[in-house]
Amino acid sequence: MSLNQKRILIIAMLAGGMFVGIAGALAETYWLVVVGAALMVGSLLFFLSKWACPHCGWHLGRFRSGMDYCPHCGERLDFNERIGRKS
Ligand SMILES: [Zn+2]
Repeated sequence: MSLNQKRILIIAMLAGGMFVGIAGALAETYWLVVVGAALMVGSLLFFLSKWACPHCGWHLGRFRSGMDYCPHCGERLDFNERIGRKS
C-alpha cells in the first residue's frame, strides 16, 4: 500500500465515521454513533501506526502537501511507491 493510498484510506475512514456518527445522532440511532466513533478511532490508530516514513519508520505527522523528504532521515518520500514492492 502506497503512502497515497494510506492517506486516502485514513481520510475516508475519518470522514465516513463522522458522517455515520452525525447521521446516527440525528436519527437517534445510537449503534450508528458507535459505528461512526469506531471508524474514527480506527482511522486514528491507522494514522498513528502506519503513517510513517517507509525508510526509517519515523511518524510523518499531519498531512502536508509538498513533503518530498522525510524530516527524520532525509530520504525521498515517494507517495505512489508501494512499500515493499520496488520495481
Ligand atoms: Zn525517514
